[in-house]
Amino acid sequence: NAPVIAIDGPTASGKGSVAARIAAELGWHYLDSGAIYRILALAGLQRGFALDDEEALAALAPALDVKFDGETIRLDGADVSLDVRRETTGNAASKIAVLPAVRAALMARLRAFRQSPGLVGDGRDMGSVVFPDAPLKIFLTASAEARADRRYKQLIEKGLPASLDSLVQELRERDARDAMRAVAPLKPCEDAILLDTTLISIAEAVAFVLRHARQ
Ligand code: C5P
Repeated sequence: NAPVIAIDGPTASGKGSVAARIAAELGWHYLDSGAIYRILALAGLQRGFALDDEEALAALAPALDVKFDGETIRLDGADVSLDVRRETTGNAASKIAVLPAVRAALMARLRAFRQSPGLVGDGRDMGSVVFPDAPLKIFLTASAEARADRRYKQLIEKGLPASLDSLVQELRERDARDAMRAVAPLKPCEDAILLDTTLISIAEAVAFVLRHARQ
């Protein structure tokens, strides 16, 4: 089994940027598991499914035609890279992520990313559920204000709609939904190393994780 570095944490905690840079640094594969939930939510909405239609969404999961090509994400051949990053898509993803059959249906897809020489996976349950035997598990946190601020900048940079006030509010709602759900709730697993990124840069967080990875 190829080694895995699991990087979990709430939305906009910096886990995506940190995980992608570590994967590049080590020459390992990178899994943005949130993107998979986002893509499934988009695909479901395109087909007119309700976001609580567990059976339809779970059936759609293994059939999804998704391709990752660098920064570009294709769904059924169409470039959905920008739509995937919209805050409305993130919120839709967190609604379908509470459905146990949907999580189960995505499991094989997520585990298939584990390939030699190694995988850096980011999400909510990389260390707790998807790769419980990962030799290194990191849990990133940051204050809601710091996270809203980061997400705001990311969205503006991409030319996507964003409002700082509603972001703080939506982020809190999303955190609550992710933490309260019955299956794979967001919380650090026992063997995870915690890192608060409120006052440190992405580069510092990357250096911290790499130090542990090389130990
Ligand atoms: O991390 P990101 O904001 O892209 O994730 C979108 C949503 O997908 C999260 O709010 C969460 O509900 C869900 N998710 C999950 N498990 C993962 C990754 C994401 O439940 N491993």
